[in-house]
Amino acid sequence: MQMMDGKLVSEEILEKLKLDVEDCRKQDIDPTLAVILVGDDPASAIYVKNKEKACAKVGITSLAYRLPADTQERELLDLLADLNERPDVHAILLQLPLPAHLNSDRLLAAISAEKDADGFHAANIGKLLLQQPAPLPCTPAGVMELLKYYQIDIAGKECVVIGRSNIVGKPMALMLLNAHGTVTVTHSKTRDLPAVCRRADILVVAVGKAKMITSDYIKPGAVVIDVGIHRMENGKLCGDVDDSEGHAAYLTPVPGGVGPMTIAMLMKNCVTAARNSAL
Ligand code: NAD
Repeated sequence: MQMMDGKLVSEEILEKLKLDVEDCRKQDIDPTLAVILVGDDPASAIYVKNKEKACAKVGITSLAYRLPADTQERELLDLLADLNERPDVHAILLQLPLPAHLNSDRLLAAISAEKDADGFHAANIGKLLLQQPAPLPCTPAGVMELLKYYQIDIAGKECVVIGRSNIVGKPMALMLLNAHGTVTVTHSKTRDLPAVCRRADILVVAVGKAKMITSDYIKPGAVVIDVGIHRMENGKLCGDVDDSEGHAAYLTPVPGGVGPMTIAMLMKNCVTAARNSAL
């Protein structure tokens, strides 16, 4: 079984982006990402810190807005409107999940589609569907980059995605379809999930349940991408997959698989937005 090294691949991508940022600076563009964190969810705080670290690595300026948990929607909408207008801000990230009193759909829609660092805006999802250039949702885009790096052909392959969330499962299915995969999307109502999964040449697991996908779900020789991240009681991280019988030919580790790829794709979206601002 070959482990797919997301850390290594993401570092190569960040190195290339560093050069792109230098190019931007030569044209007097200072690529800038505004990051908004509402409340004190510890996992979100770690994600935001990692994103800021990646910005520093590639030379992107990050502006942090750490707001109290009781921030009102009006205040956030005003902040987003202000950031949308500012020519020195190229990309905006609103860290999810938001506190329960805030409507994430409404707030995400208030980020201008051009500055949508996460690729979650409805207009950008529509462009993905229509195969038009747009910022892409970072996690599935990172999976596509990993498949490319390991030269895994998608055309004509049976691709099964577990999960249909707006941020992972659905855009993942679209990207695999756009790459000519034969795509099945499964979810909590799917009947005989193991049998459906065993059809997969490429199995992308974003079910959000620690170690749920055992070898019984995996066809021998399949490529398995584990999107899940969970902290176990012993403090270590694990994914959604537990292939103890080693059926997979390729597997992403957790940590060090999809996670760092997601951040690299976020950086890519920021650099592209900065470049596009000059067009
Ligand atoms: P989600 O909870 O929004 O979606 C989970 C999906 O799994 C749902 O569509 C649901 O229908 C499906 N599901 C749930 N139980 C099921 C079952 N028993 N059988 C079949 N399908 C079932 O989660 P999400 O936001 O898509 O994230 C999925 C996982 O990926 C989580 O562990 C999350 O932490 C992780 N994640 C990782 C990254 C990263 O950068 N590595 C990014 C985003 C999410």
